[in-house]
Amino acid sequence: MKLNELKLTNPYLNLPDECHDRVKPAPLKNAFLIHANEEVAKMLDIDVEELNTESFAAFANGALALEGSDTFAMCYAGHQFGFFVERLGDGRAINIGTINNLHMQLKGAGQTKYSRSGDGRAVLRSSIREYLMSEAMHGLGIETTRALALMGSKHEVYRQTWEKGAMVLRVSPSWVRFGTFEYFAHKKKYKELEALADYAIAESYPHLADEENKYFYFFAEVVGKTARLMAEWQAVGFNHGVMNTDNMSIAGLTIDYGPYAFLDDYDFAFICNHTDQYGRYSFGSQPNVGEWNLRALMVALAPLVKSDELQKVMGHYSKFYTEHYLNLMTKKLGFDQHKDEDLNLIKHLLGMMQGLSIDYTLFFRTLSRYNGDRKELLKLGLYHTPMNDWLHDYDERLEENSSTEEERQAKMLQTNPKFVLKNYMLQEAIDKAEEGDYTLVNDLFDIAQNPYAEHEEHEPWAEATPDEFKNRKLSCSS
Ligand code: AMP
Ligand code: MG
Repeated sequence: MKLNELKLTNPYLNLPDECHDRVKPAPLKNAFLIHANEEVAKMLDIDVEELNTESFAAFANGALALEGSDTFAMCYAGHQFGFFVERLGDGRAINIGTINNLHMQLKGAGQTKYSRSGDGRAVLRSSIREYLMSEAMHGLGIETTRALALMGSKHEVYRQTWEKGAMVLRVSPSWVRFGTFEYFAHKKKYKELEALADYAIAESYPHLADEENKYFYFFAEVVGKTARLMAEWQAVGFNHGVMNTDNMSIAGLTIDYGPYAFLDDYDFAFICNHTDQYGRYSFGSQPNVGEWNLRALMVALAPLVKSDELQKVMGHYSKFYTEHYLNLMTKKLGFDQHKDEDLNLIKHLLGMMQGLSIDYTLFFRTLSRYNGDRKELLKLGLYHTPMNDWLHDYDERLEENSSTEEERQAKMLQTNPKFVLKNYMLQEAIDKAEEGDYTLVNDLFDIAQNPYAEHEEHEPWAEATPDEFKNRKLSCSS
């Protein structure tokens, strides 16, 4: 459809007034489209030809409202680094309407009632990171918000120095956060809490709508989804960096991309977020933080469900997590089925990678072509003995596999990505974009969409991260 044929709805506005604040987006000055996502356009019934029009650029800059749009910011609270903040909310994201159950949001569209001291803007570097990374997560088959468009501008925004403002038109089947529930529970507004739970069920778990004990099952779903998401992040080597409860999706999606990173060399203790001094959100802590955050949600849901029932579900979290994780690692290693002894093999492998400082993504991709010749794998680490020891056990385990070597390799190449968007790659794309050259943004977008394909023209991005860029931390300022 053409943009002017679309009709937007705003289902979140049916919730009580306290859940949101009606506010209009403030367009960026001299804004221009950097990239638009054709796949997401199709999901929204937008004709691909529309993406090249001036109207689309105006729409993605918050300067053109489509029929039915009633724009607003959402209110939420959250535990930030363990401390409760009773009111956060969309300080720089403005909801602009829903199509096909996908809610569109402009991030960086100006101040709202929830901006506190912030300017409501987002800069180019953080917008590029969010735009590309949500596509990369999707390409890896991990649930995430998506994005329709990335806008650049000449609008000056101050962050320690003057930078250019940008905007991402983000899209998600849900923007409800754990912190949204915490907001109403803390205020003891239980009617609103219940309305929000009904909304979240209708939005993300509609099969529960008629269940007798629906809020209990709702929590169980969120526990299961969160456990799965944590397992996926660990298996692919993704460090989110700011797992505050306001950045946790009730639908189990990866949301709010900040100082995140993919691991370069495997490091269980890696901290991507420069401000996370003590590593609360380090790579290895993520599954436990997922559980901590679910406990905060559990407290918020206590007015709706008996607490012993909630506790019972919570008790299953680590089992759910471990099951998902072992399942994913079994696939990464190319085994037909998981066996109990595999846990030791996985632990042995991770210890070996940590000790030898081996590039996590490159290791699994190289292993995907393993045919008994160890040369390529041995090249990945300085010392051969630890790798040889592990391969000795791996060879033995492969003998228990029923699939052929070719079958195993083919499956592993579809499981272990050739490319992940590491920070040094994103930084190079950002540096070029700051100069007005968006070719690398385009290239990384193409890679991100299918990280399992060979993309021979982009071969250098599949190599180990250059030493000077390895395992660097990023600042939260965005
Ligand atoms: P984040 O760390 O991006 O998840 O943001 C945490 C909170 O700060 C959320 O309520 C954001 O909306 C808000 N926030 C972050 N940056 C800004 C900004 N530049 N202006 C207004 N609010 C902001
Ligand atoms: Mg956030």
